[in-house]
Amino acid sequence: MNITDLKEILDIEQVGQGLHQLISDLYPICRSITGNGFRETLGQIQPLIPLTLHEVPTGTQVFDWTVPREWNIRDAYVRNSQGDRVIDFQKSNLHVVNYSVPVHKKLSLEELKPNLFTLPDRPDWVPYRTSYYKDSWGFCLTHRQLLELPDDEYEVCIDTTLEPGSLTYGECYLPGEESDEVLISCHACHPSLANDNLAGIAIATHLAKHLGQVARRYSYRFIFIPATIGSITWLSRNEEHVDRIKHGLVLSCLGDPGKSTYKKSRRGDAEIDRAVLHVLQHSGQDYEAIDFFPYGYDERQYCSPGFNLPVGCLMRTPNSKYPEYHTSADNLEFVQPVYLQDSFAKCLDILSVLEHNKTYVNQNPKCEPQLGKRGLYRSVGGAAGSGIDEMAMLWTLNLSDGKHSLLEIADRSGSEFSAIKKRLMP
Ligand code: ZN
Repeated sequence: MNITDLKEILDIEQVGQGLHQLISDLYPICRSITGNGFRETLGQIQPLIPLTLHEVPTGTQVFDWTVPREWNIRDAYVRNSQGDRVIDFQKSNLHVVNYSVPVHKKLSLEELKPNLFTLPDRPDWVPYRTSYYKDSWGFCLTHRQLLELPDDEYEVCIDTTLEPGSLTYGECYLPGEESDEVLISCHACHPSLANDNLAGIAIATHLAKHLGQVARRYSYRFIFIPATIGSITWLSRNEEHVDRIKHGLVLSCLGDPGKSTYKKSRRGDAEIDRAVLHVLQHSGQDYEAIDFFPYGYDERQYCSPGFNLPVGCLMRTPNSKYPEYHTSADNLEFVQPVYLQDSFAKCLDILSVLEHNKTYVNQNPKCEPQLGKRGLYRSVGGAAGSGIDEMAMLWTLNLSDGKHSLLEIADRSGSEFSAIKKRLMP
């Protein structure tokens, strides 16, 4: 059984439910770029796939960056003079600015306000804010609540630690027949945000789980990393081996109702770019392809000029292009099993194309082989409209000159890759 067979045997609706369940399980954890929330997340994935955890000490130089201090949080709140928690980390981890330094003091509302963050345009949503690389602190709340906060003396407590520790990342390696690798990367550093990070984590996990059970041509490497600093750290520790990466995908924002979006690799014409676009073109759904730009997720590190790896980014609605992005509205209702399963199925289709995309040489290249005597041609000549499979065969025979891959033949002929592949591997 190979990757193509997976789509036949999997109950894809059940996969969608499983993806949503994993997202729900991971949703409450307060993740950050370092710390126990990240470890706990990997710990919950570990029973599902063979995942190795790596710890890189604070202070480690990784190219132009340095692994930061480890951040951990126990509690955070703002209490009014009656002792009520008016802002409470225990209710939602989005209420505290991620990576806040420890604070414990009493402040008037005016003194507190510069450290409160809201979304005036979306008065019922809590924003997600971070302060990774500067020492500061803050709370996030709905704009509606801010407007209603009375003058009072508030007790502010952020019970966090920022100390030497390590940066954690997870790696799942599935060896294949070839040492050439497909890299699947997702960031896992956001707290309770479902589409932006948990959807990618869940799909990567389920892909690894199912790929682990079938024969593979390529070797697969799944990495679960904190955004930016994680891919920089991973690349700096694996620099000698990156030439094994023949194709790669960053997975992100894959559970929202929007159409599929593919951001091409920096190369723009890599096999992964062609494979993803082929699958999206034949999906029967609207989609969008965008050229590489040096912003977004970890593709910007994989595609930095010193690496220029063939890595694109598969999403539905891109980051920052949906109002729920980086807010409390990116929640368990926003991501739906039906969209998750659709994204998962597209990932399987893409990997299936990569697995079978080879270049062949027609052994009978001088004029067309006589297909009729091999039972491969319609018996009554001249009938129109029944020739779709024959056209796939004729294109395959014509372009199998050792220079065109099956995927190129599929694109040139307008056929779906599976129709072309079937001519060679029924
Ligand atoms: Zn994000």
